[in-house]
Amino acid sequence: MKIVAAKKILKANDQLATENRAHFSRHRVFCVNLVGSPGCGKTTLLEGLFARFGQQFAPLVIEGDIAGQVDADRMEKIGVPVVQINTDGMCHLDASMIAAAVQGIALDGVNMLWIENVGNLVCTAGYDLGEHLRIVALSTSEGDDKLIKYPAIFQRSDALVITKIDLLPYLNFDVAKARADMKRLAPEARVFVVSATTGEGLSDVIQWLGEKHVAALGTSPEVLG
Ligand code: MG
Ligand code: ZN
Repeated sequence: MKIVAAKKILKANDQLATENRAHFSRHRVFCVNLVGSPGCGKTTLLEGLFARFGQQFAPLVIEGDIAGQVDADRMEKIGVPVVQINTDGMCHLDASMIAAAVQGIALDGVNMLWIENVGNLVCTAGYDLGEHLRIVALSTSEGDDKLIKYPAIFQRSDALVITKIDLLPYLNFDVAKARADMKRLAPEARVFVVSATTGEGLSDVIQWLGEKHVAALGTSPEVLG
Protein backbone atom coordinates (compact mmCIF):
# COMPACT_ATOMS: atom_id res chain seq x y z
CA MET A 1 0.00 0.00 0.00
CA LYS A 2 1.28 3.45 -0.85
CA ILE A 3 0.69 6.10 1.77
CA VAL A 4 1.54 9.69 0.95
CA ALA A 5 1.88 11.91 3.95
CA ALA A 6 -0.01 15.19 3.88
CA LYS A 7 3.21 16.88 5.03
CA LYS A 8 4.95 15.85 1.81
CA ILE A 9 2.12 17.17 -0.33
CA LEU A 10 2.24 20.46 1.53
CA LYS A 11 6.01 20.63 1.06
CA ALA A 12 5.59 20.23 -2.70
CA ASN A 13 2.90 22.90 -2.58
CA ASP A 14 5.20 25.27 -0.68
CA GLN A 15 7.94 24.87 -3.29
CA LEU A 16 5.53 25.63 -6.12
CA ALA A 17 4.11 28.56 -4.15
CA THR A 18 7.61 29.99 -3.76
CA GLU A 19 8.04 29.76 -7.54
CA ASN A 20 4.69 31.47 -8.10
CA ARG A 21 5.68 34.31 -5.76
CA ALA A 22 9.01 34.78 -7.54
CA HIS A 23 7.19 34.82 -10.89
CA PHE A 24 4.75 37.49 -9.66
CA SER A 25 7.53 39.59 -8.11
CA ARG A 26 9.55 39.42 -11.34
CA HIS A 27 6.58 40.82 -13.21
CA ARG A 28 5.96 43.47 -10.51
CA VAL A 29 2.61 41.90 -9.70
CA PHE A 30 1.45 42.18 -6.10
CA CYS A 31 -0.54 39.06 -5.21
CA VAL A 32 -3.25 38.85 -2.55
CA ASN A 33 -4.96 35.63 -1.42
CA LEU A 34 -8.46 36.43 -0.16
CA VAL A 35 -9.96 33.72 2.04
CA GLY A 36 -13.14 33.37 4.08
CA SER A 37 -16.39 31.40 4.39
CA PRO A 38 -18.92 31.04 1.59
CA GLY A 39 -21.07 34.16 1.68
CA CYS A 40 -18.74 36.28 3.84
CA GLY A 41 -18.61 38.94 1.15
CA LYS A 42 -15.31 38.27 -0.63
CA THR A 43 -16.58 39.10 -4.11
CA THR A 44 -18.50 42.13 -2.88
CA LEU A 45 -15.34 43.33 -1.10
CA LEU A 46 -13.45 43.07 -4.40
CA GLU A 47 -16.19 45.00 -6.20
CA GLY A 48 -16.09 47.68 -3.50
CA LEU A 49 -12.30 48.00 -3.64
CA PHE A 50 -12.09 47.99 -7.44
CA ALA A 51 -14.73 50.71 -7.67
CA ARG A 52 -12.36 52.90 -5.61
CA PHE A 53 -9.05 51.91 -7.23
CA GLY A 54 -7.61 54.17 -9.89
CA GLN A 55 -7.03 53.00 -13.46
CA GLN A 56 -3.33 52.35 -12.84
CA PHE A 57 -4.17 49.68 -10.32
CA ALA A 58 -4.90 47.22 -13.13
CA PRO A 59 -6.12 44.22 -11.18
CA LEU A 60 -6.36 40.66 -12.44
CA VAL A 61 -8.60 38.25 -10.54
CA ILE A 62 -8.49 34.48 -10.18
CA GLU A 63 -11.81 33.14 -8.94
CA GLY A 64 -11.71 29.79 -7.17
CA ASP A 65 -14.98 27.90 -6.93
CA ILE A 66 -15.99 24.28 -6.74
CA ALA A 67 -18.33 24.86 -9.68
CA GLY A 68 -19.83 27.63 -11.77
CA GLN A 69 -18.63 31.08 -12.76
CA VAL A 70 -20.98 33.35 -10.84
CA ASP A 71 -18.19 35.46 -9.30
CA ALA A 72 -16.17 35.57 -12.54
CA ASP A 73 -19.28 36.92 -14.28
CA ARG A 74 -19.45 39.68 -11.66
CA MET A 75 -15.81 40.63 -12.36
CA GLU A 76 -16.40 40.67 -16.12
CA LYS A 77 -19.43 42.89 -15.57
CA ILE A 78 -17.22 45.57 -13.95
CA GLY A 79 -14.53 45.17 -16.60
CA VAL A 80 -11.94 43.34 -14.50
CA PRO A 81 -9.98 40.59 -16.29
CA VAL A 82 -10.66 37.28 -14.61
CA VAL A 83 -9.65 33.62 -14.73
CA GLN A 84 -12.10 31.10 -13.29
CA ILE A 85 -10.75 27.96 -11.63
CA ASN A 86 -13.31 25.22 -11.03
CA THR A 87 -11.85 22.82 -8.50
CA ASP A 88 -14.40 20.09 -9.29
CA GLY A 89 -15.10 19.26 -5.66
CA MET A 90 -11.79 20.27 -4.11
CA CYS A 91 -12.46 22.61 -1.19
CA HIS A 92 -9.41 24.87 -1.58
CA LEU A 93 -7.00 26.20 -4.19
CA ASP A 94 -3.39 25.04 -4.29
CA ALA A 95 -0.25 26.49 -5.83
CA SER A 96 -0.37 24.21 -8.89
CA MET A 97 -3.85 25.50 -9.79
CA ILE A 98 -2.56 29.09 -9.59
CA ALA A 99 0.47 28.25 -11.75
CA ALA A 100 -1.86 26.71 -14.34
CA ALA A 101 -4.27 29.65 -14.18
CA VAL A 102 -1.62 32.29 -14.93
CA GLN A 103 0.20 30.24 -17.56
CA GLY A 104 0.10 32.07 -20.86
CA ILE A 105 -1.36 35.22 -19.32
CA ALA A 106 0.64 38.39 -19.98
CA LEU A 107 1.26 39.93 -16.56
CA ASP A 108 3.08 43.02 -17.83
CA GLY A 109 0.05 45.29 -17.63
CA VAL A 110 -1.09 43.89 -14.29
CA ASN A 111 -0.24 45.59 -10.99
CA MET A 112 -2.22 43.41 -8.68
CA LEU A 113 -3.38 39.80 -8.73
CA TRP A 114 -6.30 38.94 -6.47
CA ILE A 115 -7.01 35.30 -5.76
CA GLU A 116 -10.49 34.75 -4.36
CA ASN A 117 -10.14 31.36 -2.73
CA VAL A 118 -12.87 28.75 -2.43
CA GLY A 119 -15.18 29.70 0.44
CA ASN A 120 -13.69 27.73 3.34
CA LEU A 121 -12.23 28.61 6.75
CA VAL A 122 -10.42 25.31 7.23
CA CYS A 123 -7.94 23.93 4.70
CA THR A 124 -7.38 27.19 2.81
CA ALA A 125 -5.21 28.04 5.84
CA GLY A 126 -2.67 25.34 4.95
CA TYR A 127 -2.04 26.22 1.30
CA ASP A 128 0.38 28.96 0.34
CA LEU A 129 -0.54 29.97 -3.22
CA GLY A 130 2.43 32.23 -3.79
CA GLU A 131 0.72 35.36 -2.52
CA HIS A 132 2.52 38.33 -0.97
CA LEU A 133 -0.39 38.96 1.36
CA ARG A 134 -3.24 36.95 2.80
CA ILE A 135 -6.49 38.59 3.85
CA VAL A 136 -9.24 36.77 5.72
CA ALA A 137 -12.74 38.18 5.49
CA LEU A 138 -15.28 37.55 8.24
CA SER A 139 -18.81 38.91 8.02
CA THR A 140 -20.76 40.23 10.99
CA SER A 141 -23.53 37.73 10.13
CA GLU A 142 -21.20 34.76 10.69
CA GLY A 143 -20.58 35.62 14.33
CA ASP A 144 -17.53 36.76 16.29
CA ASP A 145 -16.86 33.22 17.57
CA LYS A 146 -15.21 32.09 14.31
CA LEU A 147 -11.76 33.26 15.42
CA ILE A 148 -11.90 30.90 18.39
CA LYS A 149 -13.38 28.03 16.37
CA TYR A 150 -11.11 28.29 13.30
CA PRO A 151 -7.87 29.81 14.64
CA ALA A 152 -5.44 28.65 11.92
CA ILE A 153 -6.85 30.73 9.08
CA PHE A 154 -6.73 33.86 11.24
CA GLN A 155 -3.27 33.06 12.60
CA ARG A 156 -1.92 32.79 9.06
CA SER A 157 -3.46 35.95 7.66
CA ASP A 158 -1.92 39.42 7.39
CA ALA A 159 -5.23 41.15 7.91
CA LEU A 160 -8.75 40.50 9.07
CA VAL A 161 -11.43 42.40 7.20
CA ILE A 162 -14.72 42.40 9.10
CA THR A 163 -17.37 42.82 6.41
CA LYS A 164 -21.07 43.79 6.34
CA ILE A 165 -20.61 46.26 9.19
CA ASP A 166 -23.81 47.97 7.97
CA LEU A 167 -25.71 44.95 9.38
CA LEU A 168 -24.29 45.46 12.88
CA PRO A 169 -27.49 47.00 14.33
CA TYR A 170 -29.35 43.76 13.61
CA LEU A 171 -26.72 41.34 14.93
CA ASN A 172 -24.83 40.70 18.14
CA PHE A 173 -21.36 40.64 16.60
CA ASP A 174 -18.84 42.07 19.06
CA VAL A 175 -16.23 43.97 17.03
CA ALA A 176 -14.03 44.62 20.08
CA LYS A 177 -13.98 40.91 20.89
CA ALA A 178 -13.05 39.99 17.31
CA ARG A 179 -10.26 42.60 17.39
CA ALA A 180 -8.95 41.22 20.70
CA ASP A 181 -9.04 37.62 19.44
CA MET A 182 -7.22 38.59 16.24
CA LYS A 183 -4.60 40.45 18.29
CA ARG A 184 -4.04 37.26 20.29
CA LEU A 185 -3.91 34.97 17.23
CA ALA A 186 -1.93 37.24 14.91
CA PRO A 187 -0.37 40.15 16.83
CA GLU A 188 1.11 41.74 13.67
CA ALA A 189 -2.09 41.58 11.61
CA ARG A 190 -4.28 44.56 10.86
CA VAL A 191 -8.02 44.59 11.46
CA PHE A 192 -10.35 46.53 9.18
CA VAL A 193 -14.05 47.08 9.68
CA VAL A 194 -15.86 47.71 6.41
CA SER A 195 -19.06 47.73 4.47
CA ALA A 196 -18.36 47.11 0.82
CA THR A 197 -21.87 48.26 -0.05
CA THR A 198 -21.72 51.65 1.72
CA GLY A 199 -17.95 51.99 1.21
CA GLU A 200 -17.25 52.53 4.92
CA GLY A 201 -13.68 51.62 5.87
CA LEU A 202 -12.49 50.73 2.35
CA SER A 203 -10.09 53.66 2.04
CA ASP A 204 -8.16 52.33 5.07
CA VAL A 205 -7.79 48.96 3.34
CA ILE A 206 -6.59 50.60 0.12
CA GLN A 207 -4.02 52.71 1.96
CA TRP A 208 -2.69 49.64 3.76
CA LEU A 209 -2.54 47.68 0.49
CA GLY A 210 -0.41 50.48 -0.92
CA GLU A 211 2.02 50.22 1.99
CA LYS A 212 2.23 46.45 1.64
CA HIS A 213 2.68 46.75 -2.11
CA VAL A 214 5.70 48.99 -1.54
CA ALA A 215 7.06 46.66 1.13
CA ALA A 216 6.80 43.63 -1.17
CA LEU A 217 7.89 45.10 -4.50
CA GLY A 218 9.52 48.42 -3.72
CA THR A 219 7.00 50.48 -5.66
CA SER A 220 3.27 50.81 -5.90
CA PRO A 221 0.86 52.20 -8.46
CA GLU A 222 0.75 56.00 -8.10
CA VAL A 223 -2.93 56.00 -7.30
CA LEU A 224 -2.30 54.53 -3.90
CA GLY A 225 -1.99 56.32 -0.60
MG1 MG B 1 -17.39 35.01 -3.96
ZN1 ZN C 1 -9.80 21.91 1.14
